Amino acid sequence: MTEQTNYTLDPQDWEAFRKTAHNMLDDMIDHMQSYREQSVWQPVPDEVKEALSTPLPQTPQSLESAHQEFMENVLPYPLGNPHPRFWGWVIGTGTPLGAVAELLAGALNPQLGGGEHAPLYVELQTIEWLKEWLGYPQSASGVMVSGASMANLIGMTVARNDKADFDIRARGLQSGQSRMIMYTSAEGHSCHQKNVEMLGIGSDSLRFIPVNDQFQMDIDALEQAIAEDKRAGYQPICVIGTAGTVKTGAFDDLNAIADICEREDIWFHVDGAFGAFATIVPTHKHLADGMERADSLAFDMHKWMSLPFEVACTLVRNNKAHYDAFTLTPDYLTHGKRGASSAQHWMSDYSIQLSRNFRAFKVWLSLKVQGTEAFTRVIQQNCEQTQYLAQKVIESDELELTAPVPLNIVCFRYIREGLSDEELNALNEELLLQLQESGVAVTSNATIDGRYSLRMAHVNHRSTYADFDVLVDKVLELGRGL
Ligand SMILES: *Cc1c(COP(=O)(O)O)cnc(C)c1O
Repeated sequence: MTEQTNYTLDPQDWEAFRKTAHNMLDDMIDHMQSYREQSVWQPVPDEVKEALSTPLPQTPQSLESAHQEFMENVLPYPLGNPHPRFWGWVIGTGTPLGAVAELLAGALNPQLGGGEHAPLYVELQTIEWLKEWLGYPQSASGVMVSGASMANLIGMTVARNDKADFDIRARGLQSGQSRMIMYTSAEGHSCHQKNVEMLGIGSDSLRFIPVNDQFQMDIDALEQAIAEDKRAGYQPICVIGTAGTVKTGAFDDLNAIADICEREDIWFHVDGAFGAFATIVPTHKHLADGMERADSLAFDMHKWMSLPFEVACTLVRNNKAHYDAFTLTPDYLTHGKRGASSAQHWMSDYSIQLSRNFRAFKVWLSLKVQGTEAFTRVIQQNCEQTQYLAQKVIESDELELTAPVPLNIVCFRYIREGLSDEELNALNEELLLQLQESGVAVTSNATIDGRYSLRMAHVNHRSTYADFDVLVDKVLELGRGL
């Protein structure tokens, strides 16, 4: 008999692997411990881009040398979001505990699409906790997805299917039914447009309702738009209210929208990507009043809950409508009566994904180890620090707010007497780039009523009050130099 070779992707030498893997973990713990000493952001040098451009590896290199390359060419050039002075876009920071959770989830490597295994019960339990925590009805169904874009898509899909008076899963939007219309505000997130495009509804049928001076959806304008669409013979199916707009952190009047949706038999969806977490802070909870009335709610946990990317959740009040939108059971996915396929609940019946990772684990572990109190404290602190920055802007003759500050976002700009809005826009645009290039702090930008602004969005659990002093000092220094 000839000798057989068995190939595997497992390490050949487990002890050597263990040693290197421990070193890799140690390096990352050192890295996480020293964010504050690092530049927030720095350009990726051309040599590094070149070093990262290599032919497809056919033969192996050692783990040690690949790790070395990571340490030299990847680790030093991050976007900077874990740094205490990163406040750009709305990008979460991550936590060391979340990173370790990712390691455990990766090593366990369960498939959360279906089947009978303990990880399913961890995800289901975590969804139960999230409903309770955010004050959403306990009877709702839920599913964890990659981010709020996807979480909104799930909610909007259920809305579309539920409001169709025909079998939309079979017939699609090809067959001469009345035109479906969705509504969001002019400050609604861009993902809604992508989503209606993918749903076959089309962006011409997404109404961007104007906002008031607090950047909230104008409720009269919403009612008018619905009435006009009905007169035209169209079918209003869904209003997307926003709990925390991406530009300024504004909250739509969710109760007013809920009332209209109830009266008009329209699905009420809430995009609470980061703002849903206002509900866990006593001083800001009122902003999200009415969120609990939503037919579906989408929120991220990789933003204000600080967990590593990617993790978000959709909750749907009508469990059956959620299930009906996505369930499909070919014989090779039969939910069995006994054995490994016997779970009552298959997550693949609640979203478009079949294979799914164990993203619930980092949520579960973080809630167990840190408790809801830790998150409440951090989010409360973020809101207080945001007001601290807003106050510093108000007190400075050289800075001004360009939008109200209801939650965790400050839009502001450098000003100088005698400069036109156009000149100030150019100045602030350059100031922002210099700020980012300085490595001292990162904010992003927003244009508010034609005024180019620096936009500080605060979901950073590492920032201290002193970090905002550093930001203001740097902005003033750069502004004066321009
Ligand atoms: C960030 C954000 C989204 C998109 O979420 P992702 O997690 O980036 O997909 C949607 N809506 C609002 C209000 C957001 O802030």
